[in-house]
Amino acid sequence: MSETLIERRARLMGPSVPTFHAEPVHLVRGAGVWLWDAEGRRYLDAYNNVPHVGHCHPRVVEAIARQAATLNTHTRYLHSAILDYIERLTATLGHGLSQAIMVCTGSEANDVALRMAQAATGARGLIATDNTYHGNTAAVSQLSTRRPPIGGYPAHVRLVPAPESLTPLGGNPEAQAAAFAANVARAIAELEETGQGFAGFMLCPFFANEGFPTLPRGFLDPTVAVIRRAGGLILADEVQPGFGRLGDAFWGHELLGFAPDVVTLGKPMANGHPVGAVVTRPDIMADFRTAFGYFNTFGGNPVSSAAALATLDVLEEEGLVANARDVGAHLLSRLRALRHPLLAEVRGAGLFLGAEFVHPDGSPATGFAERLVEGLRLRGILTGRIGRYMNTLKIRPPLPFSRENADLLVETLDDLLARTEEPA
Ligand code: PMP
Repeated sequence: MSETLIERRARLMGPSVPTFHAEPVHLVRGAGVWLWDAEGRRYLDAYNNVPHVGHCHPRVVEAIARQAATLNTHTRYLHSAILDYIERLTATLGHGLSQAIMVCTGSEANDVALRMAQAATGARGLIATDNTYHGNTAAVSQLSTRRPPIGGYPAHVRLVPAPESLTPLGGNPEAQAAAFAANVARAIAELEETGQGFAGFMLCPFFANEGFPTLPRGFLDPTVAVIRRAGGLILADEVQPGFGRLGDAFWGHELLGFAPDVVTLGKPMANGHPVGAVVTRPDIMADFRTAFGYFNTFGGNPVSSAAALATLDVLEEEGLVANARDVGAHLLSRLRALRHPLLAEVRGAGLFLGAEFVHPDGSPATGFAERLVEGLRLRGILTGRIGRYMNTLKIRPPLPFSRENADLLVETLDDLLARTEEPA
């Protein structure tokens, strides 16, 4: 019998790159919010944020093809595309964030950001939340807490409890914000007492990988004050919330209302072409240059810059940020109208929404959420799960997602909820 793709993958790739779904999907084609598998089955993509302006958007494809057929080289030679892009990008950011280094992935961007904080402060100590993911380099994987590093967390890393929906840090939003800041202050004090000093706090301003609990604007204000007093940097990992997904704000830090010192970008930035960036102020960039030599063979090459530019063009011309806001609001209100004994909360912003499932005793309904994701996949809709207990259905589609797409998702989910048994 011939080897299946799953068997071949296991033989050639080993176990380190797992697939999604009980029965992995073999995709062969994509367009807009739709994907097709090898059997010709069509899926509504309600999960993937990388194809930000839609799978295989012709404008982005054409920009990549045109530039690839003209020139591709690295950034030690002059080229205007990278400058055009950085100009457009920094125009969307305030707070003096006017210079950027282009990289190929979010992990790389975060790795550079950590070093920027260390260069700017002369200290080593770094803080992240205790339930997050910032990437896969040796340095950022120490802040990516799904699996503790071998030998435990190094002395210069401190983790603070992530804001949670199920086990809130305590009381009303103001009390939670104060508790979060107090934990950060304690972590800074520990870093200072142990001689590490405090360089920076890396956080996703939407707490996307933490399960994006609902947080009021200003939630981070007390934390920002603590960080400023200690002289550290705020590193905003905008890999997930950035580029307008949240609808009401182009950047996650705008929605929460704070000013980061460094912003890192990736995933949706070039609609699937591997592009990332680190944006900061000239003073921090100068400190980074003094402390570290830096060169990136592929980062910001002419093809990548063309892809990123075309993605921004489509975002603007097709009004996709407004679409994220409008369709997101429609989808949120329809999801909130769903009734099921285990459906505890529907939350999110723009086209980044979650539905959290909890048992009557307050424990997370992880298995139930997993069955929903599988049930939706069998009905031709791709979603995922998120949160500390993976009990929140994650809805994070490409931004051209329409009201009709949203209705199809809600009606399919409603039908599935009526049929999916509560686990014993
Ligand atoms: N930061 C966040 C918040 C992420 O979610 C991810 C990827 N899921 C990364 C960084 C890493 O990005 P990449 O996979 O491009 O290295």
